[in-house]
Amino acid sequence: MDAQLTTSNSPASLVISGGGLVGALAALLLAQKRPDWQIHVLEPNSHGPAQDQRVIALAAATVELLQQLGIWEDLAPQAGAIEHIHVSDRHQLGMTRLHAKQHGVPALGYVIAAALLNTALYQAAQRQRTIIWHSGARFVSTHAERDHRLVCFEQHQQLQQLHTQLLVGADGQRSEVRTQLGIRTTSTDYQQVGIVGILQLQQSLNGWAYERFTTSGPIALLPMSDNRASLVWSVSPKLAEQLLDADEPSFVRQCQQAFGYRAGLFSAIEQRAHYPLQLHLAEHSMAHRAVLVGNASHTLHPIAGQGFNLGVRDAIALSESLQGSSDAGSYSSVAAYWQLREADYRTIIGLTDGLVRGFSNQLWPLTSIRSLALMGLDHIAPLRHQFARQTMGFKA
Ligand SMILES: Cc1cc2nc3c(=O)[nH]c(=O)nc-3n(C[C@H](O)[C@H](O)[C@H](O)COP(=O)(O)OP(=O)(O)OC[C@H]3O[C@@H](n4cnc5c(N)ncnc54)[C@H](O)[C@@H]3O)c2cc1C
Repeated sequence: MDAQLTTSNSPASLVISGGGLVGALAALLLAQKRPDWQIHVLEPNSHGPAQDQRVIALAAATVELLQQLGIWEDLAPQAGAIEHIHVSDRHQLGMTRLHAKQHGVPALGYVIAAALLNTALYQAAQRQRTIIWHSGARFVSTHAERDHRLVCFEQHQQLQQLHTQLLVGADGQRSEVRTQLGIRTTSTDYQQVGIVGILQLQQSLNGWAYERFTTSGPIALLPMSDNRASLVWSVSPKLAEQLLDADEPSFVRQCQQAFGYRAGLFSAIEQRAHYPLQLHLAEHSMAHRAVLVGNASHTLHPIAGQGFNLGVRDAIALSESLQGSSDAGSYSSVAAYWQLREADYRTIIGLTDGLVRGFSNQLWPLTSIRSLALMGLDHIAPLRHQFARQTMGFKA
């Protein structure tokens, strides 16, 4: 529900800074597990949910969770099902394919506009009496006391404050919560730019998603409705500049040349945007009466489409570690959260980093090794099954 009262002196159980995908989801999961708690969400966007132009791939496990929350039913007609995944190295023999049926599921994942998902999460949060959503509120600073935290935020050009047992930083890659807590990040700049857009195709992808490693960089195509595909093309900054300046026919031609004709003919591109591809990792994700979740804690290369899915598992772990807690910000609750997350971070971040480094390199013998790896995946069923389970967001 939208906030009526924006200041309070009695400590709220939780203040979540950031009502984006991960912040809103965390609020919903926590409200479900702890109906006795008051959960405040601070979101700078003054009209409802955060605005997001991205199209994202949701792992099957994420969709299961949205189903449980009663959100998926309305979203499903607007989502594209990924029934098959084709991973290949252009001009090399290696490739691997995953089929949903072989793994006993209707889809390996789904593709959806992030804005639709944001709206659905925001609307679900509005229906929860215990979630107090502060629209147009920007977290500014925090001060720790022994048994609570003071949180200052700006709303309607006024500084306001809340006392809370636990502060959750879900305020994205440039997290102000992280800065205020003095948590440093380590960064890897992949010297690549992710060009995204919606490609219009002459024929439908029929449920196929493609990840193709090309000489200009990896290209991912994800199936959408109406013969469209979501494109993520990782290229060098120099090529990105040229591609972003190119007129539409020239861009489409260059993309087609790089990808080849496996997905048929490309005819147009809409909503072209670009993101620098970097890995930002908080040195740790907990502090006294505070935790970080989602992009505030880790921003991944979008190559493996795992960023949000990792954030979803942060939100689940947080709600599980606080489920039986009498004090949301106690050391044992916060430490339990971090214990649940650490190993998963290492696996996914290692996998994504390995993919970026291994598959953006055209040097033999690296190309031969990855071709062999892809062929191995294609022929060794247990390995393929494990890869599929990770892709679907289940623990391997
Ligand atoms: C090109 C691209 C493609 C991607 N594709 C995929 C994919 O296919 N699958 C996948 O799983 N992931 C994908 N990702 C990653 C995914 O988009 C992110 O992991 C996800 O958006 C993280 O959500 P978040 O809520 O942590 O952060 P964000 O989405 O950045 O949300 C942060 C929120 O905090 C708010 N905020 C900011 N500052 C403050 C403040 N001071 N006070 C309060 N609130 C504040 C913002 O308004 C926003 O609402 C992709 C990313 C990119 C760049």
